Amino acid sequence: MKIPDEIIAYCKRCGKHTKHTVKRDKKGKPSPLTWGQRQYERVKEGHGSKRRGEKDIMKVNKGGNLRLTCTECGYTHLRPYDRTKKEPEIEKQ
Ligand SMILES: [Zn+2]
Repeated sequence: MKIPDEIIAYCKRCGKHTKHTVKRDKKGKPSPLTWGQRQYERVKEGHGSKRRGEKDIMKVNKGGNLRLTCTECGYTHLRPYDRTKKEPEIEKQ
């Protein structure tokens, strides 16, 4: 799946379709200090890197977000994409 450098999309702030620059939004590492992450660390203790009974499954098709930034006002919003085998490449012109 190839994604162009710029696409025309609706901008909420401008109220019309404008040019947007496209960036893939990569998922960052989870913050180790949040309660949910600390709980997860506790639960999987003693079972390797997984919870008890949890199996190691590799996902082939992963979704994600595209970060669209309006070139007129700078407003940024996310557009989800899913089910691509490869990470979408950003085409260079
Ligand atoms: Zn805008």
